Amino acid sequence: MRNLMFSIIAAGALTALPAAAQTAAGPDLSAGARHLAERALADPTAWKVVESLTTEVGPRPVGSPAMVRARDWGVATLKALGFENVHVESFETPTWARGPESAEVVSPYPQMLRILGLGHSAPTPPGGLTAPIALFRSYQDMLAQPPGALAGKIAVVTQAMRKTQDGSGYGAINAQRTAGPAEAARRGAIGYLTRSLSTAEDREPHAGGAAAAGIPAAALSPADAEQLERMAATGKPIVVRLDMASSENPATPAWNVVGEIRGREQPDEVLVLGGHLDSWDPGTGAIDDGAGVAIATAAARLVSEQGRPRRTIRVVMWGSEEQGGSGRAYGAAHRLEASKIIVAGESDLGADPIWSLSVPRGSARTPAMQAFLSVLPGLKVIASPQPPRFGGSDIAGLIAQGVPFVDFNQDATRYFDVHHSAHDTLDMVDPPSLAQNVAVWAAFLYTVANSDIDFRKLAQQEARK
Ligand SMILES: [Zn+2]
Repeated sequence: MRNLMFSIIAAGALTALPAAAQTAAGPDLSAGARHLAERALADPTAWKVVESLTTEVGPRPVGSPAMVRARDWGVATLKALGFENVHVESFETPTWARGPESAEVVSPYPQMLRILGLGHSAPTPPGGLTAPIALFRSYQDMLAQPPGALAGKIAVVTQAMRKTQDGSGYGAINAQRTAGPAEAARRGAIGYLTRSLSTAEDREPHAGGAAAAGIPAAALSPADAEQLERMAATGKPIVVRLDMASSENPATPAWNVVGEIRGREQPDEVLVLGGHLDSWDPGTGAIDDGAGVAIATAAARLVSEQGRPRRTIRVVMWGSEEQGGSGRAYGAAHRLEASKIIVAGESDLGADPIWSLSVPRGSARTPAMQAFLSVLPGLKVIASPQPPRFGGSDIAGLIAQGVPFVDFNQDATRYFDVHHSAHDTLDMVDPPSLAQNVAVWAAFLYTVANSDIDFRKLAQQEARK
């Protein structure tokens, strides 16, 4: 298939390590890591990958025809960049697809509202659903309502999300979207509207998943949530009409797309790194998560430029993160191999710089991790004393089987201004920041793949101390 970056990037993998980083005892890991980090800062691969994906595929909700094109794009891209063992791993997952949708205030002040239906929202009856609203300025206020208190009403929660560097504002308010529809339905509500989990003050609604609740549920733009607050403050009853269509497929075909740089000495010892290929539909999935796909792909390719590593590096483009399923499928498919997976990581918090990171417990003072950590000051990254906590939802299936993992924390300050909205497009990606991510991951992959570091053993030793 035609691909923007093919004309720009030669598939020149597996060239030799520069003499400066080679010693009689093998590669000098510190020199190699520093060399790679420098190369990464000037390497256009990640940008070309995210540009190609967002331009030539665009939005790619799991279950859509675009996701089939994304799968083929992933295979073609990995092959063009010199990856080996490029293949597709199929699975099935339940999915939800948006149809036409609108919302409006019927009275007292008729006007349109900007919404996006939430994943697993029920459709409204044909012709729409018109009902009075019950507005709550905090999610806790809605939860305090007794059963039946919201009977016949559309529940509206307008609590705003807090902007934070570490993204913790999202975790703190997430239930308002994911569990809100079910909690409202439990109290008798016939519809649910939440202020978008957005840190922008604008009129873009932000999509996202929710647990199925059997009622129509949507996210309001921040501006529309505030508009409803002002109307509610007048004391007049507010009537809203929702008109939403959607469909569900309980067994949608989906794919994880895989490519490897095979190890020269221990090919069965594998480092797994990736991002997710699927996206929500309003934007083109540039920061969520075309950037992660690009960072992982570019970092692995850069390591391969230095010669074949000792261990295998595997890039995975997970195929159903937003609606769930790809992490579970990957964990299940690799159950027999899990004990040989040395470490796993996922890049899925945008394209802004990594500002701190956590390496697995007990590993920081090893020669391999010292070599890796030596590149961090030059990239303005803090080595956190805390062990990794999350890893990423697509590697959760591996982590549950005891696979060691890392957290490379991207600066999330602006991420939720854009996340899951129409603003998630390529112009939100800053090329130097994207390259900084590649530099950190490339240095990490290089030092781990060219050493015999055993994170499981180190964690056990640390636990015994
Ligand atoms: Zn994501």
